[in-house]
Parts: sequence; C-alpha cells; structure tokens
Amino acid sequence: MSSTITSASVTHIPVWYRKEVGKNAYRDNIGLCTSEWLVRLKADSGHEGLTLGNRFMRADDGTVGGLLEVLRERVVGLNVDDLLSIEGGVASGPGNGTASLYRDHPWLSNAAFDLVGRESGVSAIDLLGGRVRNEVPAYDTTMYFQDFLDPQKGAAKCAEEAAEAKADGYRQMKIKTGRGGRWMLPEVGMQRDADVVNAIREAVGPDFALMVDANFGYDGRLDLLEDFFRLTADANVFWFEEMVNADVEDYKRIREFQAKYAPQALIVCGEVDRNPISPVFQDLIDQGLIDGYQPDIVSHGLLGWMDLERQLAGTKVLSVPHNFGNGRYGTVLGTLFGAASETFISFEDERQHDHTYVTDGLTFERGNHVVGNFAGIGLGINEEIWTRDHAKHEAVVSA
Ligand SMILES: [Mg+2]
Repeated sequence: MSSTITSASVTHIPVWYRKEVGKNAYRDNIGLCTSEWLVRLKADSGHEGLTLGNRFMRADDGTVGGLLEVLRERVVGLNVDDLLSIEGGVASGPGNGTASLYRDHPWLSNAAFDLVGRESGVSAIDLLGGRVRNEVPAYDTTMYFQDFLDPQKGAAKCAEEAAEAKADGYRQMKIKTGRGGRWMLPEVGMQRDADVVNAIREAVGPDFALMVDANFGYDGRLDLLEDFFRLTADANVFWFEEMVNADVEDYKRIREFQAKYAPQALIVCGEVDRNPISPVFQDLIDQGLIDGYQPDIVSHGLLGWMDLERQLAGTKVLSVPHNFGNGRYGTVLGTLFGAASETFISFEDERQHDHTYVTDGLTFERGNHVVGNFAGIGLGINEEIWTRDHAKHEAVVSA
C-alpha cells in the first residue's frame, strides 16, 4: 500500500571536527565546527527519509522559514511511490511530477532514495544500480593551511598532522595549496605549498595517496604553477584539483605540466559547477583536459549524480564527488555512492565526530568505509540524543 509524506522538518545540528581546520586559498579559518541542516521527511507508513538542506541554507537568501515553505508547498503530501521512477529495481529518474522539484532542489532526491529504500526494504545502493565494491576509499580532507595555525612549526605542522591521520588509519589525504593567491606573496606561497607537499610525503611514506587542491590559488600565475609541479615532481601527487579556474587554454598548459612533471597524476575540477554540466566544463571534458569531475554529492544529490554518470559515460572522466561541509550525513552518502559507482575513485572525508545518528552496517577499516546491509541510506536518528539536544530546535510543517 502506498504511503504519503505527512510532515517535514528542518533542524540545525552542529558537527564537530577532530581538530581546528585552517584557511584555504580564499577562505579564512574553517574552525572547529560545521553545520548539518537536517531535513526529515516523515510518511504515514512510519518510515522517514533524511537529507540535508545545506545548499539551500548557504545561499545568500537561505532562511529556515524559506526552506520550510518549500517543504510545505512542494514536498508534504507527495506520495512515496511518486518520488522516483524505478525500473528493474533501479532508480531511472524523477517520479511522477517531481522533475521540477529536483531541478530546483537536487538535494531532495537523497531523501527520496532513503524513504523509497526503507519502504521497499532495499538499500540506496541497490536503487543506484547495485553494489560494485564493499570497501569505499575516502581521503582525509582536513589538511588546510595548518601551518598558519602554528607558525613556529610551519610545514612541519602539516607533516605532523599527516602522520596522525595515517596512524588513525587513513591511506589518502588532500592537501590545500594556493597560499600565494591571497595569504602570502605569490612566490613565497608557492614555495610553502611545495614544502608542505614534500614534508607530508616524507612523513607518510610512499604507500599513501596525496591529492593537492589550490581552490584557484594559481589563477594568473601559471609560471608559478609550473614551478609547483616541478618542485613536487618526486612527491607522486595523485591528483591536482582546481589549480586555476576552468579555462580551456589554461588547462591545456596544465596538461603540459602534468606530462612533464607528474605523468601519473589526474587533473580534476568541477565542485563549483552548481548546474552541471555547464559549458566550460563540458569543453574541458570533450577536449580530454580533465580526468575527474567533482560536483557536490549532497547538493547535487544521488539522482543528479546518476544523471551525471550517464552524461560522462563514453568519456574517460571519473567520478570524484566533492563532499566538504556535508558532515556525517555526507560521509554516509558518499560511501553509498562510491559503493555503487563503476567510475568512482575516492571522496572527501571530513572526519567529524559521530553525532546524532545511528549507522547500520557502516564501519571504517583499512582506510575505507566498509558497507554492510541496511535499508535506505542506512542512517537513523539516535532518538535519545534527538530528544535531549535537537527536538526543541526542530521546525516542523505538517499536512
Ligand atoms: Mg576542492
């Protein structure tokens, strides 16, 4: 028997990092904490679907009232059977009348996978097409400009934290670079970037993937970017991310640097593409100038990512979803996506403390998130914590 969504709610949940997270190329210190704007959709069957409204709330005009209005007008009252089209047990697109809802708010499709999965007793991984791996690689993504937090140690501070991440079981890490874009003089910042990468490589040893991400910190300074490639040539960098803004001519130059200094490395970008695949990124894909594409996993949603993978089929571009600022929810969603995606490599793990949730059948071992068995997205609410900490902050709309 089909059920109906009878209420929806929005709750702010603080998410604590394991350490203070510093600057990146454009943004001052991240700090100790981020936010999950948890959206709970409850059906009259007793099941619920969870997603995050972070994208909505982080827009300049995002308000709790505005988000509740969307949920009241467009979500409450929907029939669960209408949330997704299903063919052969796999989600094939939006359900009856929901295409425009997901076009406007792609992150709502995550709750659809959760709710439809729970109602039919299958996991979101099944709805994504089935499991292709049980162990999903994730990289520590908290190596920001940690040297600025401890100027006496400088690059050695980053190396110290990298060794700690390895001791905690991680086997991959992304290193923020681009110090010369804003926070240091360009030449000095480039040298510090290289010193940090090389110090970290020395600290973690050879069997450890290191990505670098400049958040466009080398825009207009491709001369210094070539120096950075040259100075890190022995560090075996796994991928170079957003070294400059998406631009076909600049990415042709980056391909030259890669061929000369880092032939093993991938070139990736795309987290800033809010309406993927937009034209300049399509050009980079069509001309073979990038190897991985990065729209956000929670914001663009599981249905959106299924669509992206259909568009990328036949290219050599791999799926490397962005996942920063998505909290514990994002770690779980990234894991589900990685378990089902043929072309997935790894996703970013903020290593936040566990909170609020109970996770069924998800553990962290050997540097991977290991997937067990569960229905929906496998993330439930710890009702004791909810009642104690969050219930009084929950904003609810009902039918
Ligand atoms: Mg990035």
